[in-house]
Amino acid sequence: MQEFINLAYIAASILFIFGIKMLGNASTARRGNFLSSLGMLLAVVVTLLNREIITSYSLIVGGLALGASIGFIWAKKVQMTGMPELVALFNGFGGLASLLVGWAEYARGSTLEWVATSYENPSFTVFVIVLAILIGGITFTGSIVAYLKLSGKMGGSPTNFPGQNAINASLFLALLGVGVFLAVNYASGSATIAFYTVMGIALLLGILGVIPIGGGDMPVVISFLNSCSGLAAAAAGFVILNNVLIVAGCLVGASGLILTVIMCKAMNRTLGNVFFAGFGGASSSGTAVEGEMKAITIEDAYYVLEAATSVVVVPGYGMAVAQAQHAVKELGSILEDNGCEVRYAIHPVAGRMPGHMNVLLAEADVPYEQLCEMDAVNPIMPTVDVAIVIGANDVVNPAAREDESSPIYGMPIINVFEAKTVFALTRGQGAGFSGLVNTLFFRENTRMLYGDAEATVSALVSQFDE
Ligand code: NAP
Repeated sequence: MQEFINLAYIAASILFIFGIKMLGNASTARRGNFLSSLGMLLAVVVTLLNREIITSYSLIVGGLALGASIGFIWAKKVQMTGMPELVALFNGFGGLASLLVGWAEYARGSTLEWVATSYENPSFTVFVIVLAILIGGITFTGSIVAYLKLSGKMGGSPTNFPGQNAINASLFLALLGVGVFLAVNYASGSATIAFYTVMGIALLLGILGVIPIGGGDMPVVISFLNSCSGLAAAAAGFVILNNVLIVAGCLVGASGLILTVIMCKAMNRTLGNVFFAGFGGASSSGTAVEGEMKAITIEDAYYVLEAATSVVVVPGYGMAVAQAQHAVKELGSILEDNGCEVRYAIHPVAGRMPGHMNVLLAEADVPYEQLCEMDAVNPIMPTVDVAIVIGANDVVNPAAREDESSPIYGMPIINVFEAKTVFALTRGQGAGFSGLVNTLFFRENTRMLYGDAEATVSALVSQFDE
């Protein structure tokens, strides 16, 4: 039986790896998601077949039914814009699960002395129990704070107080100190106090570590906590000696970390800056900009588009807010029928989560072949007749290239300012996530189309229909 279980675990691990690989491309992502889910189903089923660890199925079936129902209803109800906060909750519960596995292992004996008689290398086992509780605890409360900030149930601006970084650093060092003490002195009388101290500090540190981070940076935090939930799961796998949990945990840990690094690079910021700089707090408008923002009417914009032979659409967070993707796709199709070449340029951190724009455009059935990455579209930008910026701001702000004093200086952008004409769709003066003035809006070749992006694009579509 054990051989069969191990073989099934290897098959599940292979499915995870191929699934993750396929997630890297929009056209194979759905199949990749399915393969990984299949791997997880296989791992769960064979684990349930293991009679050595399971005596009764009633609690498991009850828990499965309850969890699956909540998950199903929630996933059905969630809006695309609410996806990051749902992911935050998933991560949080992943961390909590690992914490509970470590705690349960501890609770199997009344004191940690029990592990000394049950494991070949008790210090190592206590060490991984501590890791599961430490990382799982921080991930749990940190993810809950991230969820509250993203869902607007808690203010999105950074919460700062004097000595914050020093307090957090001291707590982290205390956590490591008590953890090492526990791993060495697991059989001593003070082990129980040390055990609950580790748990308490970890839970507290998750809250204190995330409250100083601005709401807009939460996707990076979520990606990092996702990585942590994987590491906590891997530690839990070592606690209960389950190979597939170790493999799955390591895969989540590594891929979450890679995604975090990609996001930081695309914003030209370090992880330290995201965690400790309080970005998104007091808003700065950057240096003063000369000139004025020039509006254009829908009718005049229509005449320009009607004559265009090449158009690049640059979607941003505003498209998600306005849910304008279907109208955008309709406009794109009309322009193509009119003999115009239409491309959609996607910045890696446009919106508020990785792949945000890809998901919205896929929902509206925009063909994958028309999606262009920033590096592919920038070289052709000077030849483009019209760049239509739909609720994007920071990712097209020329200050990132030109103004060394700008907080976003060095962040790679889509060079829409090089297009012959730029239409910028925003509702107002259009400060982006960074709170900075966008110098693009003051350029000679930029015209502002004010209003909700969905209403504006629909109005343009109507002009073509008339
Ligand atoms: P952005 O800088 O946040 O700007 C959004 C723009 O949309 C604003 O100009 C806003 O102006 C406009 N807008 C909002 N609602 C609108 C509506 N209903 N209709 C029309 N316009 C609307 O967006 P972005 O250019 O996509 O940049 C993303 C930012 O988020 C970057 O700074 C990035 O670093 C950050 N970030 C991204 C991620 C990620 O994973 N994607 C993660 C963390 C942080 P008005 O309010 O005046 O309309």
